[in-house]
Amino acid sequence: DHGRVINFGAGPSALPLSVLEEAQTGLVNFAGTGMGIAEISHRSKEFQAFLDGFERDIRTQLDVPPTHRILFTQGGGTGQFSAVVLNLLARYKLLRPQASAEDTVLDYVVTGSWSKKAAEEARRLGGSTVRTVVDARVYSKDGKAFDNIPPHAEFAFSADPALIYYCENETVDGVEFAHDAQSPAAFPFHLLPQNTLVPLIADYSSSFMCRPIPRLADHAVIYAGAQKNIGPAGLTVLIVREDCIVDVDAAAKLGAAPVPLILSYKTLADSGSLYNTPSVLAIYMAGLVVKRMKENGGLPYYEEVNRRKANKLYAAVHEGEQKGVFRRKVQQGSESWMNAVFEVLGEGAEKKFLDGAEKEGMKGLKGHRSVGGVRVSLYNAVTEQEVDKLIAYMARFLAESA
Ligand code: PMP
Repeated sequence: DHGRVINFGAGPSALPLSVLEEAQTGLVNFAGTGMGIAEISHRSKEFQAFLDGFERDIRTQLDVPPTHRILFTQGGGTGQFSAVVLNLLARYKLLRPQASAEDTVLDYVVTGSWSKKAAEEARRLGGSTVRTVVDARVYSKDGKAFDNIPPHAEFAFSADPALIYYCENETVDGVEFAHDAQSPAAFPFHLLPQNTLVPLIADYSSSFMCRPIPRLADHAVIYAGAQKNIGPAGLTVLIVREDCIVDVDAAAKLGAAPVPLILSYKTLADSGSLYNTPSVLAIYMAGLVVKRMKENGGLPYYEEVNRRKANKLYAAVHEGEQKGVFRRKVQQGSESWMNAVFEVLGEGAEKKFLDGAEKEGMKGLKGHRSVGGVRVSLYNAVTEQEVDKLIAYMARFLAESA
């Protein structure tokens, strides 16, 4: 087992051992070329073939329709906080050349620290009116925490926004939109403006390819940094509807902000994501991960396993809550499948919990510094047996705390 531990880290995070082993071979000799993947030209036919297969594996598993392009870039989720604003403002300028900055509205759904950051970047970039559609803190237990998906009645979208933004899974806070369309914590697609191709943007950084994406075809842009479910940091995957791939220079002539070439979706689309040197190694490893996902049965398989992992973990937390040892941070129904956040109650108890887990080879469990507590990240590469091991540890911890 190479001395590996169980890695519950939030990102970068665990990758399948079989992929790491296969990548060792490719690092030395990729596809029989006699050159390693980090040494070969991104314009070689072997790399191009790999990239095409990677795209196909994402398209078929997520069922991405022909209306949407799959693009690869760098800059992480943070790069897209900026890119979505610039590209969608250019699109809006072409659609509504007469609209003033005040009339150019960007709608942000704020359910946690990442969507909050994204909204702050939109404000920094200027040239528009940034609106908070809903701020989940208003509906929290203590008035300050991001601990819920707000009630649908509170989502007041603008009539004709240049973009509508949400973060599907809030990695730090452990809050996620429910997958079941009937749940009160599902994204309220039915409340979106109906008259247009809705400019709906979703940050899927920490839930990409853990289960199918509800209403994927109704999104304008879906993006994800790779470094949670599918690969190393350095690769960002974009799913962009054709009408959002616009001539940003034509928009700039009408008064929109100029868009750096490398952030323009048109640059990426026109060059097949090879305008400049891509993150070759990260693409390679993520490509191996999604190929393996396909071999394992694709998203239906991962959805089932991830559902079981999350359900049993939350059941263990719930049991500890009844005994006064643990406390859930997130309200019922809004809990993330990928990042489960809870507190260990009592003086020094959290440290004892984390130290004990580490002694048993379970790492990466400390909560984000802004919210504290324990955070268990349950990404695809974390196996059900590994979750079972943590649950057994939690049960022993409860017994000792009684
Ligand atoms: N969005 C979400 C949901 C994230 O979890 C993260 C990073 N953990 C980011 C955005 C920022 O991504 P990056 O570090 O790749 O810029």
